Amino acid sequence: CSIIGYYGKISAAPILVKGLKRMEYRGYDSVGVATESENKIELKKGIGKVDEVNSKIQLDIMPGKIGIGHTRWATHGKVTDTNAHPHSSNSGKIAIVHNGIIENFEELKQQLENDGYSFKSETDSEIIANLLQKNYELTKNVKETIIKTVSEIKGHYAFVAMFENGQLAAARYHEPLIIGVGKDDFFLSSDVLGFIEYTDDAIYLENGNFVILDKDKFQILDFDGNHAKYGITKVSKEF
Ligand code: GLU
Repeated sequence: CSIIGYYGKISAAPILVKGLKRMEYRGYDSVGVATESENKIELKKGIGKVDEVNSKIQLDIMPGKIGIGHTRWATHGKVTDTNAHPHSSNSGKIAIVHNGIIENFEELKQQLENDGYSFKSETDSEIIANLLQKNYELTKNVKETIIKTVSEIKGHYAFVAMFENGQLAAARYHEPLIIGVGKDDFFLSSDVLGFIEYTDDAIYLENGNFVILDKDKFQILDFDGNHAKYGITKVSKEF
């Protein structure tokens, strides 16, 4: 159960797969990656170990310099390819990875179904993708979308959302999420091991904060939308 994200200047997929492999010790049953290129999201996932799934479906050969990845430790829904993360929203314009549990997912799922959304998986996580889509169509703005979405979901989570237009957003609530600050790029990860070979500058996202990565913007905000204080920590490479 790990999350990884990359926003940068070089091919995302190999970096994501390497990061997930380094975090294998955290335990998992399935793995997946989604990348964004030319305003299109591509997604690959399956059950098994990173190396097994990678040799079957080439997780590390996907287009784009922006991406998200996940290893799942199933809590809601069986261990199946469909239940593996990332999950995409109905429009296919948003993909998410999530660690943790959304406690009110049944209620939110029912509301979204009433609004015409459909679900492919049995996970609690998939509701985040469609809820983000609904809120994004409403607000047309990633910041407002995250603020609204985190006010509606209950539970504990770290999630990363990738938007078709190439923005990444990540929120943290009682699950770890660390930002790796590179020279020309950013990493999002459950553990510094996910990016330590690329940068040792880390921002430990505070509980109840989120980050938005955009072409010319890097913002860390609290769940009310106020700019949050943060510091950059040097992490040791001696593991
Ligand atoms: N609750 C989610 C699921 O069962 C995420 C589990 C995790 O943290 O890997 O898919």
